[in-house]
Amino acid sequence: MRIRVNLGAEDIPRYWYNVLADLPFKLDPPLDPETKKPVSPEKLAVIFPRPLIEQEVSDERFIAIPEPVLREYAVYRPTPLIRATFLEEYLQTPARIYYKYEGVSPTGSHKPNTALAQAYYNKIDGVKRLVTETGAGQWGSALAYAGAKFGLEVKVFMVKVSFHQKPMRKYMMNLYGANVTPSPSEETSFGRQVLSSDPENPGSLGIAISEALEVALSDARTKYSLGSVLNHVLLHQTVIGLELKRQLELIGEKVDVIFGCHGGGSNFAGTILPFVPDKLSGRNIRFVACEPSACPSLTKGRYEYDHGDTAGLTPLLKMYTLGKDFIPPRIHAGGLRYHGSAPIVARLVKEGLVEAEAFDQEEVFEAAKLFARVEGIVPAPESAHAIAGVLREAQKAKEERIEEVIVFTLSGHGLLDLTAYS
Ligand SMILES: *Cc1c(COP(=O)(O)O)cnc(C)c1O
Repeated sequence: MRIRVNLGAEDIPRYWYNVLADLPFKLDPPLDPETKKPVSPEKLAVIFPRPLIEQEVSDERFIAIPEPVLREYAVYRPTPLIRATFLEEYLQTPARIYYKYEGVSPTGSHKPNTALAQAYYNKIDGVKRLVTETGAGQWGSALAYAGAKFGLEVKVFMVKVSFHQKPMRKYMMNLYGANVTPSPSEETSFGRQVLSSDPENPGSLGIAISEALEVALSDARTKYSLGSVLNHVLLHQTVIGLELKRQLELIGEKVDVIFGCHGGGSNFAGTILPFVPDKLSGRNIRFVACEPSACPSLTKGRYEYDHGDTAGLTPLLKMYTLGKDFIPPRIHAGGLRYHGSAPIVARLVKEGLVEAEAFDQEEVFEAAKLFARVEGIVPAPESAHAIAGVLREAQKAKEERIEEVIVFTLSGHGLLDLTAYS
């Protein structure tokens, strides 16, 4: 029985997959917050480098991965697809469960898949410094790492509650040479404004994004980088799903249902988007996004235009949102504490092509503990939401005696999140 599907470096996809080429509907465009008209590429060019803006609006089906990015991908890709045989035995489920493990990347999550691409395109566009926000620190570490590889300075605004809960991530970013500031901070006018009305504000991704954008807008050699939500980020993450397709073909498995955790939507979308054309052409396959019930954008949010940040600097995006001023409770899955969602994922949910489920923190940590004990890998608290979804599905398969194939993306390991477990 083959339980681990490894591909060789020659099997790394040479192209990212752009689902916009295949969707039978057009996404609502991002709007300029001032004019409420579709935002112009010129305005975006102040924030992002040209090649990424082109990708953001591209309708080409396949976009070539540049050679220098492929070289970096080869450090940790292709990532393994592993059959969770120990979990299956423990659950006594007739379902076959596989996971695509993204925790093997240098920073321990899927985030370098886009960080490396973004650093590369900024570098060739003449940018000197990248500024960004981070919640739990996974995105900040990935961008710090990518900045080190491509010779860019990196500045990170880290949500204050995580800055104190997860100092290891800060050390890691510093190790790669990045500058890290807890947000809200005194370094920006928006940060000072938040602190003056609430000195104890724990921060949020929305506030940290506003601070990072303010810095990017004030310095011509600095651009902004976002770790999730936007079309180009999801595009880069499709390496996950493209490899997964290949791996499933190799072992002759047909997946029935795919689970992924959902914060801004990048690992989930990266996994499922390459399978969307199959679903559109009538194949029976389900996609389930798993989110925390403490920050339930897809299951409880409204589908409407909203800002990506708290100050209202970003274009308005059509998405499921809890409102830009939503301050999520201090749950441990810091990477899932975002008020909005990726416009692509939101639309797929709206169209009934993607399902969403919410999970309480307790159920998530029980799932994580079980997974660590039987499979051995300590999952990131974010990834554990997908495991919780899989456990519910495997239980149902057992009760109804369905021999289905379940796949989920284990988006990262939790070795720097052990305080959350304790
Ligand atoms: C950031 C992060 C997430 C959430 O972000 P998405 O864009 O929804 O993927 C999930 N898992 C891990 C391990 C993360 O670092």
